[in-house]
Amino acid sequence: MDAQILPNFLQKRTFLTPDRPALSFLGKTYTFSEVYERAYTVAGQLQAAGLTRGQFAGVLLRNHEDTVFILLALQLIDVKAVILNNRLTAEELIWQMNDSTSAFFLTENSFDEVSQKVVNSLDEISAIHKEDLFRTDPAEPALVEEINLDEICTVMYTSGTTGNPKGVLQTYGNHWWSAVGSALNLGLNEKDSWLCAVPIFHISGYSILMRSIIYGMKMVLFESFHEKKAIDAISDEKVTIMSAVSTMLTRIADELKNDKLPEYFRCMLLGGGPAAKSLLEVCKEKGIPVYQTYGMTETSSQIVTLAPEYSLSKLGSAGKPLFPSHLKIAAPNGKHANPGEAGEILVKGPNVTKGYLNRQEETAKKMKDGWLLTGDIGYVDKEGFLYVLDRRSDLIISGGENIYPAEIEGVLVSHSQISDAGVIGMKDDVWGEVPVAFIAGDENLDKKEVIKYCLERLAKYKVPKKLIIINEIPRNASKKILRRKLRELLEESGN
Ligand code: ATP
Ligand code: MG
Repeated sequence: MDAQILPNFLQKRTFLTPDRPALSFLGKTYTFSEVYERAYTVAGQLQAAGLTRGQFAGVLLRNHEDTVFILLALQLIDVKAVILNNRLTAEELIWQMNDSTSAFFLTENSFDEVSQKVVNSLDEISAIHKEDLFRTDPAEPALVEEINLDEICTVMYTSGTTGNPKGVLQTYGNHWWSAVGSALNLGLNEKDSWLCAVPIFHISGYSILMRSIIYGMKMVLFESFHEKKAIDAISDEKVTIMSAVSTMLTRIADELKNDKLPEYFRCMLLGGGPAAKSLLEVCKEKGIPVYQTYGMTETSSQIVTLAPEYSLSKLGSAGKPLFPSHLKIAAPNGKHANPGEAGEILVKGPNVTKGYLNRQEETAKKMKDGWLLTGDIGYVDKEGFLYVLDRRSDLIISGGENIYPAEIEGVLVSHSQISDAGVIGMKDDVWGEVPVAFIAGDENLDKKEVIKYCLERLAKYKVPKKLIIINEIPRNASKKILRRKLRELLEESGN
């Protein structure tokens, strides 16, 4: 048999461990066989509505148990889910629906306002609201019992931090190898339970769903993140692993005060963006077992993660490439960078995308000889541990020196009165560019004192030449700083 063919993930999992808890949502728990039954019915309803194998369907759904059933139903009948970010505007949704040539648009009543606009402007698509779908009579679904790992399972658009979002192709194999790579690093036992308080429309959330099915592990799903509820769920649901981004972790650490998380909670997987050293140190003091990770939509979640035994000794590193994956750093001259030398991060492995949907040119630019050019800058130390510095496009070059906004932001948020910070470059006649910082925090923030604080912690050329206080740092749904918004704000302020 072709090695690329595996049994349908959900069917196999339900056969292996039907009675294990699979999903917990708002206090209700479903076993794998219950999840399968629900997904099976929905698959029949989707087929009765006209969806057939191999099609693309846009999916605009919130974190909810129904979303899990629908996403798994799509896998059962091999319809490719184009998973849409919940926070997109109607225009952005229309753009992605067109770009992906999706024939169907699966959504729910709570998105009525935007989805109506989408439907009005795209007459060739059929919109299906889950509320209506669930009332229809199901057909006998034509289940896809064997899946080819090379087939597309999902399409997810990148968050568009650097430009127009691109539809990343994620195959069943990408998801499979991502789950396997994670387990070979973090380990796995039948008591594991993973808290998903990140969006399921993002790879950070969807990958938890895939791991749940592949590992036979309970996923505790939140509608959205809330620090107190997360801490409570860790106890009540015996959560052992949680995925988080920095802002979530900061709130958990604050909320915990002097309390400790239970002993069985073994991994706080921290990714999605740079982590401030000060946050990592606070977590170390509080005994929160943080594992930094580096990954992206194009790698179907983690590709580099710190192993448990190095979580303290290599604080600040994103770790080594997972077992199935490779990593190299390309120096500016195109050669292999030496240890400690910064350059573009290149990754390779079975969890790395084949490319972007309908975007051959973009794909060719980003994929060279099997390596994905990530557009991120980092370095590896002598032992091969990766340190991610920042995105290449956000790099500030001042008087020939490289400045990474993430480093300055890390120092700023470690200030007790600053809750969030974003740094960009500003044109300067003498230095070419200089850093400017946007900060949000206490009302009585004293700019002079902040500068002094920075001077004590950063080389002078990295200290922001200008501080602009704003109410909130603009961030996208993945909590990433929207630096282009900051650039607009800077222009408006007359610079
Ligand atoms: P776009 O490609 O459209 O700009 P995006 O890159 O923000 O969107 P994602 O795939 O969600 O979309 O994010 C992946 C990116 O997040 C990485 O390429 C990197 O820039 C950043 N990132 C992820 N993990 C880390 C980390 N540990 N340290 C620093 N940056 C990280
Ligand atoms: Mg990207």
